[in-house]
Amino acid sequence: MITTDVENYPGFAKGIEGPELMTEFRKQAERFGTEFLEEWITKVDLKDRPFTLYTENKIIKAETLIIASGASAKWLGVPGEAKTPNGFGGNGVSACATCDGPLPAFRNKRLVVVGGGDTAMEEATFLTRYASKVYVVHRRDKLRASKIMQEKAFRNEKIEFVWNADVQEILGTAEHGVTGVRLRNASDGEHFTLDCEGVFIAIGHRPNTDLFKGQIDMDTVGYVRTNGHSTATNIPGVFACGDVQDSVYRQAVTAAGTGCMSALDAERFLDHLPVEMPSGEEVTIEGEHITVDRELIITATGEVIPNEPVLE
Ligand SMILES: Cc1cc2nc3c(=O)[nH]c(=O)nc-3n(C[C@H](O)[C@H](O)[C@H](O)COP(=O)(O)OP(=O)(O)OC[C@H]3O[C@@H](n4cnc5c(N)ncnc54)[C@H](O)[C@@H]3O)c2cc1C
Repeated sequence: MITTDVENYPGFAKGIEGPELMTEFRKQAERFGTEFLEEWITKVDLKDRPFTLYTENKIIKAETLIIASGASAKWLGVPGEAKTPNGFGGNGVSACATCDGPLPAFRNKRLVVVGGGDTAMEEATFLTRYASKVYVVHRRDKLRASKIMQEKAFRNEKIEFVWNADVQEILGTAEHGVTGVRLRNASDGEHFTLDCEGVFIAIGHRPNTDLFKGQIDMDTVGYVRTNGHSTATNIPGVFACGDVQDSVYRQAVTAAGTGCMSALDAERFLDHLPVEMPSGEEVTIEGEHITVDRELIITATGEVIPNEPVLE
């Protein structure tokens, strides 16, 4: 978690800083004997169990795997966007309106939302609860967002659209944070400045799943697909939780919630209890598949037997 102030995690009435929340999570997990390996996984092999994970100088074998590699916000890559002290990231620039919009720094301020999709419309609409004015800066003259989201944004009196404009730079000072954005009109190439006190980049997220490409089911964007009723993926024994499988909520509390689900799913899997797959089949750690209608069991060797209680 890279965010600083977390105001909306349950149990912290006064808010808590992201790194401090992480430390608390870690200490709590250590109390139950969790062993931490701080390694970067460079390759995985999920063909056979135990699964194999490779780091620069280690090979790790695992009977189950919980993928929790998160999603990264996409950035514009313009001057002024980097984290402080190199830019105004954390000092007026954010990629999460739900997380940062309610902070005092953005209240009753003029804010810019960059983007033209559903996320941008949702973030802009959400920010009007706190901001005095929200400018949506979009590089085209049409939005990509769904009609319903567009109409909602168009109806909102606090939202103003700045069309055909590319953000060239985020302007500000170390003392005051963001003071504006320098824009380029895509039609005539003219540069102009839009004054504002905050910038929200809403051009999408990229799940951190390159490592698993071709080995596990993902949606078109690259989010890992999980079974609606559990965190099971299409590979028996591999589970996914948090932002890497959630393109909708992407909050610390939802990541923690699905993390808990994954832990329970993995535990059940290791206890040899069947886990439901996205297909509706159930699979046991021994590799037995129970058909969707629960009538048959297909063993790891391919033998098909009726799913009937064993009479002692
Ligand atoms: C600017 C900002 C502010 C936010 N503020 C809030 C807020 O106030 N409240 C809130 O609820 N949510 C907030 N969020 C969202 C919140 O941070 C996420 O929803 C949450 O952290 C998701 O948890 P996660 O465990 O799924 O992923 P992450 O917290 O992203 O953790 C993924 C981890 O996996 C690691 N990783 C990735 N690939 C590999 C690899 N190959 N090998 C080893 N490790 C790897 C990453 O380094 C990272 O440590 C904010 C997000 C942003 C960007």
